[in-house]
Amino acid sequence: MKMKIAILPGDGIGTEIVAEAVKVLDALAPMYGLKFETETALVGGAAYEAHGHPLPESTLKLAQAADAILFGAVGDWKYDKLDRHLRPEQAILGLRKHLGLFANFRPAICYEQLVNASSLKPELVAGLDILIIRELTGDIYFGQPRGRRTATDGHFPGTEEAFDTMRYSRPEIERIAHVAFQAARKRKAAGSAGKVTSVDKANVLETFQLWKDVVTEVGLQYPDIALDHMYIDNAAMQLVKEPKKFDVVVTGNMFGDILSDEASMLTGSIGMLPSASLNAKNQGLYEPSHGSAPDIAGKGIANPLATILSAAMMLRFSLNQAAAADHIESAVKSVLAAGFRTSDIYSAGTTRVSTREMGDAVVTAIGKTAIKTTIKG
Ligand code: NAD
Repeated sequence: MKMKIAILPGDGIGTEIVAEAVKVLDALAPMYGLKFETETALVGGAAYEAHGHPLPESTLKLAQAADAILFGAVGDWKYDKLDRHLRPEQAILGLRKHLGLFANFRPAICYEQLVNASSLKPELVAGLDILIIRELTGDIYFGQPRGRRTATDGHFPGTEEAFDTMRYSRPEIERIAHVAFQAARKRKAAGSAGKVTSVDKANVLETFQLWKDVVTEVGLQYPDIALDHMYIDNAAMQLVKEPKKFDVVVTGNMFGDILSDEASMLTGSIGMLPSASLNAKNQGLYEPSHGSAPDIAGKGIANPLATILSAAMMLRFSLNQAAAADHIESAVKSVLAAGFRTSDIYSAGTTRVSTREMGDAVVTAIGKTAIKTTIKG
C-alpha cells in the first residue's frame, strides 16, 4: 500500500532538519516493504514570499489528500510586521483548523545519555517518560467574541480594553478525554503507570469546571486507568518538582501550550522533542516541538532528532507501522549512546556533529540496530 506523505519543510532550519528525516524514512522503507509517495510544498514565510500567503490553496490541498504531513517549522522575525493573517505561524493554525487536528501529543522522554543536559537534577529526570496531550482546536484561542472596545465597566471605564472568550463544548472535551485514556491504556500495556492527570482551573473558571466534570465522566469508562485532577498552577510546579509522578497529562489548548514547553525543557534540549497533532481519522501533522530557529538557520548545526523522532511518531500513529517506528527510536538511542551530539546537546567527551552527520549516523544505525525496546505512547 502506498502511503502519501506531504512534506512541508517551511522556514529557517525547517528545510535542513526535514531533509534528514526524509533520508531516514527512505533508508527504512525497503526494510519494511513500505512505499512512501512524497510530495513537497511551500508553507509559512517561504510560501508567503512565493504566493503571498503562508498556507496557499495548493499546499492545503496536498495536506488534505495526504495520510500524514511531515512539517519542519515556520517563522522568522522579519515577518513580525505583517498583518496577523499573513504571518507564517498562521499556516499551522490553518492546517489544524482545516484538517480538524484536535489532539496534540508531546512525549517528553529523557534519554539516558542526555540526563546531564537537563536543567533539573539528574535523579529527577533519569528515566522520565511522560506524555502531554493538549487539546488544539478550542479554548481561548478560538472562542468568540474577541476584540477591542472601549470599557464600560471594570476599573478603568472609558479606556481601551481587549477581550477573548474561553470556551469548550462537552463533545470537544469528551473526545480529547477519550484520546488521553486510550493513550494511557496503550502505555500501561508497555509498562507505564496507567494514569491520566487532567489539568484545569476549575476553582476559578466555569469552562474548566465543565472540563473537569466531563473528564471525570469519561474516566468511568476506563476503570483500569487512574484519574487525578490538578490545577494548572500546581501542575506547573509539580512538573519541575517531581516530573516522574506524571504519566499522561491532558489539558486544554492554552494550559497545554505552556505545560508542553515546560516539559520539553526537562529533557535537555528542545531539539530532541517530537510532536504529533491528530484528527479523528488519525491523519496527522508531525513536527518538532521547536520553531524555525532563525539564529542558526543555514549553519548546518541544527539538531534533526526531534524531526526524525516526529517521523517515527508518524509511522506509529498515522501509518500503522509500529515496528518501523520502534526501529527509528532505537537507532536514535544508539546514536546518542555512541556519543554523537549536535551543538545544542554537546558536552565534553562526546563527538560534535553537524545536522547532516547526525542524519547519516541515524541512517547507519538503522542498518545495524536490532529492535530492542518498545517506546511507549
Ligand atoms: P525556536 O524554537 O525557533 O528557537 C529557540 C532556541 O532554540 C534558539 O536559540 C534556537 O537556535 C534553538 N533551537 C531550536 N530548535 C533547535 C534545533 N533543532 N537544534 C538546535 N537548536 C535549536 O523559537 P523562537 O526563537 O522563539 O522562534 C523562532 C521562530 O520560530 C519565530 O518566528 C517563531 O514564531 C517560530 N516558531 C515556529 C514554531 C512552529 O513552526 N511550530 C514553533 C515555535 C516558534
